[in-house]
Parts: sequence; structure tokens; C-alpha cells
Amino acid sequence: MYNITHIFDVDGGKYALDFRNIFFCQLDKKTESELNGYLTVDGQISDDYAFGTALDAAVRHGFFISNHPDEPIPLFDYDTLNISFAPVHDCNFSCAYCYAEGGKGTASYQRSFDKDMIDAMLNYIYVTKYSNYQKYKFDFVSGGEPLLNLDILEYFLKQVRIFDWKYNKKTAILIVTNGSLLTSEIIKKLDKYDVYLGISIDGRRHIHNLHRVYKNGIGTYDDVVAAITNLRASSASFKLKDAWAMSVITPKTGNLVDLMEHCMELGFKRMQMQLLRVPNNHHLRFHDLTSLKNKYKELFAYILLCAEKGNLDPLKMIANDNDSFGKFIARLILRKKVCYRCFAGKNKIAITADGIVFPCDSFCGDSKFAMDSIINPAENESVREEFQCAHIQHREKCSTCWARFLCGGDCYYNSFVINGNIYDPDPFICEMNRFFIEYAIYMIMRLYEVDKKNIDYMARLLSVNSYL
Ligand code: SF4
Ligand code: SF4
Repeated sequence: MYNITHIFDVDGGKYALDFRNIFFCQLDKKTESELNGYLTVDGQISDDYAFGTALDAAVRHGFFISNHPDEPIPLFDYDTLNISFAPVHDCNFSCAYCYAEGGKGTASYQRSFDKDMIDAMLNYIYVTKYSNYQKYKFDFVSGGEPLLNLDILEYFLKQVRIFDWKYNKKTAILIVTNGSLLTSEIIKKLDKYDVYLGISIDGRRHIHNLHRVYKNGIGTYDDVVAAITNLRASSASFKLKDAWAMSVITPKTGNLVDLMEHCMELGFKRMQMQLLRVPNNHHLRFHDLTSLKNKYKELFAYILLCAEKGNLDPLKMIANDNDSFGKFIARLILRKKVCYRCFAGKNKIAITADGIVFPCDSFCGDSKFAMDSIINPAENESVREEFQCAHIQHREKCSTCWARFLCGGDCYYNSFVINGNIYDPDPFICEMNRFFIEYAIYMIMRLYEVDKKNIDYMARLLSVNSYL
């Protein structure tokens, strides 16, 4: 028999998660002892058991215990190719925590794409190497500030729409900018190409300016907020104005409620709070754990309080697959299982200005992870295989972890930097992910108590909100 149940406490309540079937419920004293009894007798239901209503149905449908191991993970097969590239590996900021070191981190000798290289890249993607895909997503999230090379960015946007038309494909584009260069003229230009926009903001002035500074050390907050205000006041499309707030959570991030409220005040309706993982002087470590968890508990209490008053906006802000916590809310509500941390090296690639293909932006410049070249294609199968194999059954610690089907494993790059290989997860991230999952279950159960329509509404919203 295989135990597929995790029982845990949050805020004085007991909960049970069948982590293989993503089924969960709250336990009272009676159902807890019934479930424990059931688990200790390896799933044999004796006539003496009279489970509580929710448990009874679940147990009789085969939840909580199983007589077979996890199904083998099928080959990774998705219909969308995710691509990222930095039009220029450079930035006008010098954010203290930037993995790309303001564009210097990528070891590519060619810093900037030119038109020929954009054409070569699009040909490689749409015509020669990945023509089997119907949908593509480009994102400009890291590696350099995309608006610094506006001519090339615009050339790319024009060309990609031509490729879409010519090859009957559908391409989504997300541009994440530091905001400082987002003038009215650029807003108009971007709006022509039907793109999604994200703007990096870490909180109010004193928090944002702790890390997000110009190269001369001056804080960037005022310029970023001026650009956001300008965007809101512009006549741009709803899609562009509905930009995402992208916030990095560091040990110095203050109150998370305040961060979320500030983003709402600036007009954001969706945000991604991402824990800073890359090991440098600014990343989160075990001595930050208690304080970080307490900050999140305040945020959870705030979201629940708002929901009790009929306001689901704070929950909607973060319930998306890229928020460090919100992704678990989304997966639990949709009962979506994951087996990989991300698409890197499978149906996600990053391309540098000298045409080398890597599994994702974070690996750019490390020749061990070079997968191919768009100029002289010669695929390094071993890198693709390594990432294809890096699912939860092949990551030793993940294979027995109760969180595996919701977590999917630690970021491959983070694991690599912390432990020297892409398989061995970072224990700090494990601790946070397990904490997030338990609290996400607790919150969903509380939201359900407030009004069960909340969960149906969120499920509908999440299932149609397909980008990101
Ligand atoms: S919490 Fe850690 S061990 Fe568990 S699945 Fe996630 S990365 Fe793997
Ligand atoms: S390996 Fe890490 S940095 Fe790269 S795409 Fe995956 S989660 Fe993101």
C-alpha cells in the first residue's frame, strides 16, 4: 500500500491532502481519527468505520491510500513553445539582486540582437526547428532591459506578426520592463503589436529604492511610478494598460499587505510576487524563514478578511502560475498536477544575441547548458535529455515528498547554483513551498466556508485566464 496522504495543522485546524489526486478536506477530531485508523490499516475499510460525509465519499472513491506507486510520468508534450531573449544584454538599472548583473551576467560576446539575427531566430523557431508547434509565447523578462534596444524590439514585433500570418501560428508576447523608458511614444508603439506588459516594482519608494537603482546608485521609484501613471492616463488598449506588477521578495521586503495595496493603488489588478532565489548577498535564507512566513501569514489574513467582506480582488491579484504562493492556490483550485518545475529545456528555450540556445534565461552564457545554435544548428541532445528527465520521479528528494505534484520541484537553476546540479532542490525553497501549499489549502477551505461560490468563481476565472 502507498500512503498518498499528508495530514497537517494550520491555525489550530487539521487538514488532509491526498496529494496524488489533489483532493483535500478539513478534519474534525472524529474524521481525523477515522482517517488515521484507515491509513494505519492500509486502506482496509472495516464495517466499523463510519466516515464523516466528505471523507466517506472520498475514501470509497479510492482517495487517500493507494495500492500502486505513482504512474510513470509521460513524455513532456505541450502545444506551446516558450521562448525568451533579451534584445540587448544591457540595462540602465543596476539592481542589487539582478542575476544578469545589469546585462553583464550573460557571457555572450555579442551584446545586442541585430535585424539579421532576429530573422535567423524567427526562421529557426517557426520554420526549421520548432515548426511543429501551433502556439508560441515570447517573453522578455530578464537578461536586459528590452526597451533599451527599441528599434530591434519593434523590428521583432513586426516580424513576428508576419510569421504568425505566413505560417498560420498564434504568438503571445510578454514584455517586462523596468518602467523607466516607458514614454508615451513607446506606449503607442507597443500597443500596435498586441503585447502583454509587466512592470517591475518592489513596493513603496523606500523599499523599491533599496535594490532597484540606476547605475549611479540613485533610486528609480519616482521614474517608474511616473511611467505607470502615464500608462494609466494614456489611450492605450485595455490589454496594455492591464499590465502586471512584477515584485521581487527579498529579506528587506517590508509588509506584503502594504506591497499589494501599493500595487493596487497604482492601478495593477494582477501581480507576481517572486521569492528572490539566486544566491548573492540579497537572497532569502533560513534565518529569514520565520520573518518571511509571518509576512505571508499577514498577507493571507488580509486576503481572507477582504474575501469575507465580498472582495476577492487581493486573491485575484496573485492567483496565477508565476506568483510564488498564488500558483498553489491556482493549482489546488483547478486540481492541476505538475511533474516539472517549469518548461525549461523542454518547450522553453532562451536565445542569446550570438545565437546560442539555452534551456532558459538563467542558464544563458553557461556553455555546459548550450543546447543548440541558430546559426549552425547541432543540437546537444544531452542537455535536452537532462531537462526532459528532471521531473519529480527522477529528482530523488522530490520523488518521496508529499508536495511533489503541486510543487513540481525547485527551479533547475536555483538547484544548480545551490547544489551543483539541476536535480537536488534547495531546502529553503522546499520549506517555503510546503508552507505555501498548506496555507493555500487552509485559505481555500476558509474561502469555501465564507461562500462556496467563491471557489467556483475562482475556478472559472483561472481556467480562462490562460496567459501566464
Ligand atoms: S518541496 Fe522540495 S522536495 Fe518537495 S517536490 Fe518541491 S522541490 Fe521537491
Ligand atoms: S529553470 Fe528556473 S529560472 Fe529557468 S525557467 Fe525554470 S524556474 Fe525559471
